[in-house]
Amino acid sequence: MSHKSPADTKAQPPLAAARAPHSRRPRRAIMPAAADTAERTFESIGVCAELAKACASLGWRAPTDIQCASIPEALKDRDVIGLAQTGSGKTGAFALPILQSLLDAPQAFHSLVLSPTRELAIQIAEQFETLGASIGVRASVLVGGVDMTTQAIRLGKRPHVIVGTPGRVVDHLENTKGFSLRALKVLVLDEADRLLNLDFEEEIDKILRVIPSERRTQLFSATMTNKVAKLQRACLRDPVKVEVSAKYSTVESLKQHYLFIPAKHKDCYATFLFNELSASTSIVFARTCDSTRKLALIARNLGFGAVPIHGQMSQPKRIAALNKFKSGERNILIATDVASRGLDIPSVDVVINYDVPQNSKDYVHRVGRTARAGRSGLAVTLVTQYDVELYQKIERLINKKLDKYPLEEEAVMLLYDRVNEAQRIAIQQMRDQDDRKGKGAKRGFKDDDDADAMLRMLGKKDYGGDDGKPRVTKQSKTNGARGFPNKRR
Ligand code: AMP
Repeated sequence: MSHKSPADTKAQPPLAAARAPHSRRPRRAIMPAAADTAERTFESIGVCAELAKACASLGWRAPTDIQCASIPEALKDRDVIGLAQTGSGKTGAFALPILQSLLDAPQAFHSLVLSPTRELAIQIAEQFETLGASIGVRASVLVGGVDMTTQAIRLGKRPHVIVGTPGRVVDHLENTKGFSLRALKVLVLDEADRLLNLDFEEEIDKILRVIPSERRTQLFSATMTNKVAKLQRACLRDPVKVEVSAKYSTVESLKQHYLFIPAKHKDCYATFLFNELSASTSIVFARTCDSTRKLALIARNLGFGAVPIHGQMSQPKRIAALNKFKSGERNILIATDVASRGLDIPSVDVVINYDVPQNSKDYVHRVGRTARAGRSGLAVTLVTQYDVELYQKIERLINKKLDKYPLEEEAVMLLYDRVNEAQRIAIQQMRDQDDRKGKGAKRGFKDDDDADAMLRMLGKKDYGGDDGKPRVTKQSKTNGARGFPNKRR
């Protein structure tokens, strides 16, 4: 393998214009036939016994398609482009070969994984540490929103694997003494389409200039956009392309429904679904940070265990929200698209599109949160009179006509009064919280999402605290807005 030499890389043009000297069209890996795949084991695709045991301890009985297709190539030291839908097991697909190579020759700063979001970076690092626990692998996360000095101290311990967002990795390369990627062996670009959409091109360029040309590179992307193709030409060398699903398809085990509803009754329908699906874990996608906030407050005023996550929340708050959901303390995560990609939230049963996504590709990413790794799942999309065109675009993209979600309109409208009251309270809570923002920030409530803090500040007794106790109070029995049984799990 001969990537550009380090000297050449100094004068390297931006990656959009760069082209590896010997780049050609990627070779396609031949996918194993389905029956064949069913009989595969991690050992049969070249994974060593120790790591196969680690997979088994995570409940991974057999490698997924993307793992079958890409792990043998990576173990042969080939560059790999993986086109895989979310939930396909792609993290294992790049982590296992890296861990195996570390097992053969342990080395500090061996691998760098670039991820578009902080949450995804954290999850990838967790997966490295879990899979590599028996061989003592250390992974460090370099993401924004966390103190640079703390991260620098961790870098001083010379971890084997760095997982980070491009901006923060560059910050450390430029400012942290003793941190260098000159001996890097493997570069992984995860969710490359998203990395590029988020304008990380300049940072990726900077990183490419300081890492060795003699390395292995793996690029994973849900979609092969023009920008991804350019990135591939700039930094992969004679790669093998592995693709495990038709473009923008959704998995068969996913039941997808729509509900055509009047916009003014959207919250009633959402509440009806929360109630019907209260024994499940659900992710609810809303379009804006404010609608996420509001819907979470409405749901909580009605006694559901809902927690919001969106881009205006600080990093610790996002992680705390996610942890509440992951631990089962809350069973409804209300999210903007910030959470729709990459987050590894196991056992999500239901995805509700409270708002139809503006970009139809986001639909695929959103519903990809459920029916992962062979499990079944349910997705329901609320379509109002204003969303018909957007919704039709989605059906065209996934090449499927969805069925109507079966429900009786009258049953939904029975909720009208209670939902109306919960909305009124939520609006007041948001107003009060916005009014107190300055004061609140001093008290440590500066995040929009801190519904617990908001409710505490407002003197409500029935906030969903962290104690896991029922949320329905005396007041809730008499107040029309409350009256749902405790939905927290
Ligand atoms: P990913 O696509 O990497 O985000 O993985 C999606 C989910 O599939 C994660 O919860 C993984 O723990 C899980 N997973 C990955 N590989 C396997 C496997 N071979 N068998 C079962 N589950 C897996």
